[in-house]
Amino acid sequence: MIPAIPTITLQSKVEIPQLGFGTWKILPIDIPEAIDGALQSGYRHIDTAQGYGNEQAIGEALSCSGIKREEIFLVSKLDNCNHLPPDVYRSFEQSLTDLKVDYLDLFLIHWPVPLLYDGDFVSTWKALIDLQDKHLVKAIGVSNFEPKHIRQLIQETGQKPDINQIEVHPFFQNNATRAWTIEHGIAVEAWSPLGQGQILQDHRLESLAAKYGKSTAQITLRWHIQHGNIVFPKSSSLTRMRENLEIFDFELSPDEIALLDSCDQGENGRLGPHPERHNAM
Ligand code: NAD
Repeated sequence: MIPAIPTITLQSKVEIPQLGFGTWKILPIDIPEAIDGALQSGYRHIDTAQGYGNEQAIGEALSCSGIKREEIFLVSKLDNCNHLPPDVYRSFEQSLTDLKVDYLDLFLIHWPVPLLYDGDFVSTWKALIDLQDKHLVKAIGVSNFEPKHIRQLIQETGQKPDINQIEVHPFFQNNATRAWTIEHGIAVEAWSPLGQGQILQDHRLESLAAKYGKSTAQITLRWHIQHGNIVFPKSSSLTRMRENLEIFDFELSPDEIALLDSCDQGENGRLGPHPERHNAM
């Protein structure tokens, strides 16, 4: 049976499934099987990016699936080399073409890259607002933005993002940015929710997994869900895709949530680059 996945209502009044399917590092050649497996398992929220190089393959797989466009929540992200407004429009159009759709559900600025473009990500944000005004995208947001970056967007445009997609997992909980984002009514998407698989042998996760008859991945995803994070774990294995969906039939207690909260290693647990220093095009 396909589990019912809860949704979260964004400030644009758009409903996003709280659990989706991540596609970073899934090569185009492997996409047909991965997307087919994800859709058959019950995923209806797909996270990709211009930089993943797999939009075209995803578009092909989705259009072959027979599932109606409006049943899929489709997300992409603007590549760091496309921040200038003419490049936003051109590359967004290309994403629509590659994904074989005439709108996206959510489009994000992938990184703020404050060391590039003379530190200007506001004109990029204005172009995303324009795409939303033209009904080419339902919700817009950012990824890897620190509070000061978002504050600047709000101050200069009056429009806050629907979402901030940031690195969050038990070993790197990104608490300051996460708390600020939530306080400002912006939903948090947790990227690498399983810590790219590197955290799953932790003994605290293992003890809870034994208690509930679940895997350590399921315990970790359940912790995210109870914190209100939106997650999209990646897997190319059908068994794991299904396993990652089976997290709505149990609940961690407040003490168990607190135990996982105590796994935070601060900056030592960070897997990706710090957003202030990431300037790769
Ligand atoms: P993840 O935390 O989802 O972990 C993926 C790894 O965990 C894979 O090696 C997979 O084989 C393993 N795994 C998955 N399910 C498992 C299970 N049930 N048991 C054991 N192992 C399991 O890592 P991710 O792919 O980096 O993050 C998820 C998604 O987040 C990406 O695919 C992408 O869509 C997004 N993302 C966004 C950014 C960003 O900058 N915005 C950065 C990284 C990732």
